[in-house]
Amino acid sequence: MRATRKDEHISGAERLVSEESVANTVSELVKRAQAHQLGTPDEVSITIERVDEKLIRKVSALPIKTIQASDFQEGRKAAMLELIKLGIDRGIAQRAIELLANGASPSHSNMRGAVLMDFRNGKRLEPDKYRGVRVSRMDLVKSAERKLIKRLVAEQIDPNYARDAIVLATKVAHVEGSVAELCWSDDSNYTPGYVASKELGYVRFTQLKPKGCRLGGRIFFIDPREVDIEKYVEILERQPFLVT
Ligand code: AMP
Repeated sequence: MRATRKDEHISGAERLVSEESVANTVSELVKRAQAHQLGTPDEVSITIERVDEKLIRKVSALPIKTIQASDFQEGRKAAMLELIKLGIDRGIAQRAIELLANGASPSHSNMRGAVLMDFRNGKRLEPDKYRGVRVSRMDLVKSAERKLIKRLVAEQIDPNYARDAIVLATKVAHVEGSVAELCWSDDSNYTPGYVASKELGYVRFTQLKPKGCRLGGRIFFIDPREVDIEKYVEILERQPFLVT
């Protein structure tokens, strides 16, 4: 689902469900688009695609850890330390944070998808710097969803945002060649963000951008020696992943 107003993105969501659940899921996604705190959309697009069950890769959700930050600068320093732990040079981590802070598209606005960055030298590798790479075809099984939402609510984390972000981060972390992901939302009311990897899990910072700021984004740090970029993008955009 993708909801926009005056061509600006308001919300988006992905679901991977059985054929019988399609109608209910569409209705749930329409309600979600209408209820978004950024306002009522004037266009909602829903695409339904058949997925071959044999192609679905099942993975476990990344473990969640929260790091408290008293403001976004403190959050960014903490995020930088996590990126350094994963082998990313301090200067490259710093530049990556600045890239998202300034708007990563060539017009200094939000990209629709993620930046792909060579973790060794900070070089951008995504074929289209406006669109970026859009991760798609992923979801959580119902039992894992219940468990995750219970945990998020107990930790006072907003499940509306975090559920989908954890599913996306889990998929990205399990694709060969991924080293780390850095993300904060483009929603001006939502200031937390995360660094995720298979090694560290989903490390959430309570503040990663100033309130009121509409710039956000995602950077996938990758090791191009491990993967062919085209294949990597194809897996992120097309291969179905189910978090169990
Ligand atoms: P959001 O987490 O929805 O607030 O999105 C934050 C930013 O992440 C957006 O501005 C996009 O740049 C990027 N993004 C959103 N959805 C995706 C996706 N499915 N795949 C890759 N990047 C995304």
